[in-house]
Amino acid sequence: MMLERAVIDRLFPSDLPEPQYWEDRYPLRELPEQAMVTRLGPSPTGFIHIGGVYVGMIDRDISSNTGGVYLVRVEDTDQSREVEGALEQFARAFEYFGISSDEDKDHGAYGPYLQSEREQIYLTYVRHLLRQGKAYLCFATKDELADITARQQASKVPTGYYGKWAIWRDADPADVAAKLAAGTPYVVRFRTPDDADGQRAAFVDAIRGRLEHEANRNDAVILKASDQSPRLPTYHFAHAVDDHLMRVNLVIRGDEWISSVPLHQQLFAALEFEPITYAHIAPLMKQIPGGKRKLSKRKDPEAGVDFYIAAGFPADAVLYYLRGLANGRLAELPLAEALTTPIDLSLCGAAGPLVDLVKLEDISADHIATLSGRQILDAVRTWATQYDAELVPVLDAETELALRALAVERDGVENPRKDLRKWSDFRPAYGFFFPELFVPVDGPADERLVPLGVAADVVTAFAADLVAGYEHRDDPQEWFDQIRTLAAKHGFAPNAKEYKKNPDAYAGSIREASQLVRVAITGATRSPDLHATAHALGASEVLRRLRALAGDA
Ligand code: GLU
Repeated sequence: MMLERAVIDRLFPSDLPEPQYWEDRYPLRELPEQAMVTRLGPSPTGFIHIGGVYVGMIDRDISSNTGGVYLVRVEDTDQSREVEGALEQFARAFEYFGISSDEDKDHGAYGPYLQSEREQIYLTYVRHLLRQGKAYLCFATKDELADITARQQASKVPTGYYGKWAIWRDADPADVAAKLAAGTPYVVRFRTPDDADGQRAAFVDAIRGRLEHEANRNDAVILKASDQSPRLPTYHFAHAVDDHLMRVNLVIRGDEWISSVPLHQQLFAALEFEPITYAHIAPLMKQIPGGKRKLSKRKDPEAGVDFYIAAGFPADAVLYYLRGLANGRLAELPLAEALTTPIDLSLCGAAGPLVDLVKLEDISADHIATLSGRQILDAVRTWATQYDAELVPVLDAETELALRALAVERDGVENPRKDLRKWSDFRPAYGFFFPELFVPVDGPADERLVPLGVAADVVTAFAADLVAGYEHRDDPQEWFDQIRTLAAKHGFAPNAKEYKKNPDAYAGSIREASQLVRVAITGATRSPDLHATAHALGASEVLRRLRALAGDA
């Protein structure tokens, strides 16, 4: 027996509109026939997962390539789990990866785009289902629900709130009235169609093709407890109402929702909404010893989007990588082409692709190697304003030096250096160029020189001689020759072979001698081309650093 309409209506605000009001307020979109309206539905229960960017990128790609619309709808109906700052982090991440919503509170007629602000809309449709007997009030307590589950387990039947176990499904209206009169909190449950038991549900997934599942028979909660404010729906119900009223026609979401499709189909049918196309994306995976598992925000730092932004991976490199994971053939194309070639849903695999950071770093290094020094410097500076504040004034004061440094083995060469995989690599790779960041060697005993094994008095004498006669030659050969000549004078063998033959006769080989100069000038035994580096630094800075080698700082 159904509840009387008056009893139902008393549970809702008296000025709650009818469904038709919302239908008119959010009319069908005037878009070309093939246009896809897609949406990303992030929940602010944590910071965004790289998988969210992956899906958002696909959403945006498909909508823009079909002349449609892409929107972000914040699914914040689980307010107890909301994480502070999550919305700000979403905005940052979406902006970084170019997946900000086409519509938001300032533009877009289909908002609000925060579910917590759509209470009236959901209530309209909950009341509508209640009035038709397609939903009912459920007063079952936690203990009662636990007891139902326990009895189901004992009798080895599927657990859930369904059929004869659903104690409020066919409740006597008098009992409902009594509970309401006593002010007992309730939830609203969807009343699964009576014939659902034993049926199969089928649908065509845009990625996986035809899928079949047992029909849903669980009377899912659609509106959460009545003693909470705001009174919010569950995901299942909210997404149906929102996707319908926002006139979304393609739902791309994680494959953990596949098993909910049978319920979603029932909800759409009960609400008399046009069914929607679903595309269930396989999750990004991580290689672990002996197999793979889903990339997990709890376990893997690289699962969080901030990992990529903080490290300074260029957005284009990450997007290129992600597009290659979505459609393998895009990984075969050069970056610029891959970024503009449409993603094809039917080519997305049903198995989750592996995220390989080494691969991403390679892609990123290749990409950065195609940029000009100016582009790199601008990007590093932008990154540093957030993540390395100390670097910003240095770059600003020494822009010319920074450009000269970046030009070393980059400008005018066929294979530019690939020493930057992300913007945070700039300081370790190029920091030594800047006098403000460089720590000169502390005389011949500096620990960075120890591995070269040259006696301290030889280092001092060699360095002092170099300082005294240093010539800042443009010609690399001539520049190196002065080191070679001095090395011979100070007892270094002309080559490593000679030195090995008779180590006691020499102070080291020419290799050790030039490494002394390299460590003095760059602080490390590995560096970009030394002559080019010296010229980027300029004669007086080179001399300052060589003096430090001589112990004469
Ligand atoms: N809020 C849901 C989630 O975070 C979105 C699912 C969907 O896109 O429909 O998983």
